[in-house]
Amino acid sequence: MNSVVNSGAVQSSEVLPLVIGNQPVTVSEWRKVYDPATAELIGLAPISTRVNLDDAVASARAAFQTWSKTSDEERRDACRRMAGVLNDNAAELAELLSREQGKPIAGMNAGFELGGCAAWMGFTADLEMPVKVLQDDDAARVEQHRIPIGVVGSITPWNWPLLIATWHIAPAIRAGNTVVIKPSPHTTLSTLRMVELLAAQLPEGVLNVVSDGEDIGPAMVEHEGIDKIAFTGSTQTGKAIMAAAAPTLKKLTLELGGNDAGIVLPDADPQAIAEGLFWGAFINNGQTCAALKRLYVHDDIYDAVCDALVTVSQNVPMGPGLEEGNLLGPVQNQAQHDVVTRLADAAKQEGARILTGGQAHDLGGLFYPITLIADAHENMACVTQEQFGPLLPIIRYSDVDDAVRQANALDTDLAASVWSTDPAKARGVAERLVAGTVYINKHGEVAPHIPFGGARWSSLGVGFGQEGLEEFTNIKIYNIAK
Ligand code: NAD
Repeated sequence: MNSVVNSGAVQSSEVLPLVIGNQPVTVSEWRKVYDPATAELIGLAPISTRVNLDDAVASARAAFQTWSKTSDEERRDACRRMAGVLNDNAAELAELLSREQGKPIAGMNAGFELGGCAAWMGFTADLEMPVKVLQDDDAARVEQHRIPIGVVGSITPWNWPLLIATWHIAPAIRAGNTVVIKPSPHTTLSTLRMVELLAAQLPEGVLNVVSDGEDIGPAMVEHEGIDKIAFTGSTQTGKAIMAAAAPTLKKLTLELGGNDAGIVLPDADPQAIAEGLFWGAFINNGQTCAALKRLYVHDDIYDAVCDALVTVSQNVPMGPGLEEGNLLGPVQNQAQHDVVTRLADAAKQEGARILTGGQAHDLGGLFYPITLIADAHENMACVTQEQFGPLLPIIRYSDVDDAVRQANALDTDLAASVWSTDPAKARGVAERLVAGTVYINKHGEVAPHIPFGGARWSSLGVGFGQEGLEEFTNIKIYNIAK
């Protein structure tokens, strides 16, 4: 990754274009993109210039003039057509996603991600934006309308790149906005291809895509032609975006990092919950915002839960995404692989017990084994930092108040979970946890009808459901004297 190629060295068949105003736009510099599982060159990702960004914003602004005035039915139909295209092209997109991102096709991976894209798009199509009558009496009639904001700049991460792009595109377009999207430099190709397919279902300029080598995101945040930023990524970048958005006072939705805690109560059944704990932590190799990233287990059943997790981990095949049978792939990129390696090494030095994994994978390259870290404690870096990879610290506790205190001690509270056979006890603990979502006996599920956002530093605003759609609107009041 990251080696730049100039136009002379490129065959047109090797590259995907930007899409601006529904036209393919070529550039003069590309980055080589390698399959993280095999290190095979899979394509070239265009590096946009500021001029490309200005063109994309101008195209979206021009399209906004008409798209914002279309009927609700037209926008709904457009979202339905996009859902259809996502369904019809799921196999092709899933394969490209797998090769670029690393996740296998099967399991809760690339095929599942494409299913989610179509589901979210279809669900958002059917949402309503009714006019609310706030007052209607002898004095006045007051109506509250939801109107589009303008041009939305969408900035996405590399972990669930197509699903998260859909989480931005669907509500933005359904509400009457136009969009310029910029994918992560790690997962450019799959987003370019998806946008190419989606934009063809929309009037010219409603959906545009630019891609970059890390400088276009900041330029979007500062751009005077962009009215709102929808960002999903790390808390650190979210803070930088918030600061940079101040001069143009952009509206922001920021979906940020999570360091989710799970608390296993002493009455839980280790065998019954092991599978749920495992996939709560290791879906997409742990590279998931709302994955379980710190597990607090009561002393009474600590060893039994550790043993059960080790057993599950031994039966989960890891390997190249396109090889049938694999359920986990490599870590997506070198920087993330370095984070995971560093945290595992530090835990070993700090006296934690590695139950499984914790050293280079036999497959080499960007593969890293599932790593379960027992006897972790609250000050270890693998507990305090979001590891975002195949590593889970398991912390022993004997007093549930102390487990709740530790779970609430960090600022990145996207979600949390409580595991117990006693629903009332679990609910009591859930009520004391600071998090956007608290799951009971599961972890990490998201759905288009359930609003999703975090507490404290995990988000600003909310996604999904009616509330998620409203994030992409302004309120306009008509206050009519009688
Ligand atoms: P990241 O913050 O490094 O990058 C995300 C995107 O922001 C990329 O497209 C990047 O090019 C762009 N970017 C980087 N610096 C920027 C700047 N200064 N201004 C504008 N754009 C900039 O995140 P990542 O490594 O791609 O993703 C992993 C993080 O995302 C994790 O922390 C994870 O928890 C979080 N995440 C959150 C959610 C959620 O819904 N809350 C979902 C997925 C991922």
